[in-house]
Amino acid sequence: MKDNKYLFIIVITYFVLGFININFALSGLFCMMLPFILLVRNRKKTWCQGYCPRASLLNATGKVASKFSLKTPAFLIRGKMKWIMLVYFSISLLFITMTTIRVGLGFSPPLEHLRFLIVIPIPYELPQWVVFENPIPWLTHLSYRFYSMMMTTTVIGVILSLIYKPRTWCAICPISTLSGEYIKYVNK
Ligand code: SF4
Repeated sequence: MKDNKYLFIIVITYFVLGFININFALSGLFCMMLPFILLVRNRKKTWCQGYCPRASLLNATGKVASKFSLKTPAFLIRGKMKWIMLVYFSISLLFITMTTIRVGLGFSPPLEHLRFLIVIPIPYELPQWVVFENPIPWLTHLSYRFYSMMMTTTVIGVILSLIYKPRTWCAICPISTLSGEYIKYVNK
């Protein structure tokens, strides 16, 4: 497995871009699709094996606390946790889609702050250094929701990397779970 150790800069750039204007958060959609495009093309976890910026970040943060790291609990590696994370991920995407449609139809105002784990509001207003005139409300809503989801999973991943092994998150990452199931399916 390659360790492209500077790829974590992409993750940091992504979150900084959100400070410039939240609509940049939608660039994460591209990053989310890329692992699956490579998966279907190569029939293996190409993304996970050397191109994932988040894995690079977790390797970097995990090294900071590597001397004090605890043994990873079995429920994280082999238990149901990966399925729980997949359910969270699916609910998040469904929630993002449904609420964006509601905002688009004018039934509710757009979200204009970040949320942790879908529902917990972050008591901090994201600065917007560049403000577009007449922003499209549903696009703003989608951007805040997407940024919140990326922030939540990154924070969980970093905390796990500091407590346990650097890439503990990878054992429960929904992209890895879905990729694994796809590979099993095509190899049948
Ligand atoms: S499992 Fe998830 S975080 Fe880990 S390398 Fe793959 S996509 Fe990245």
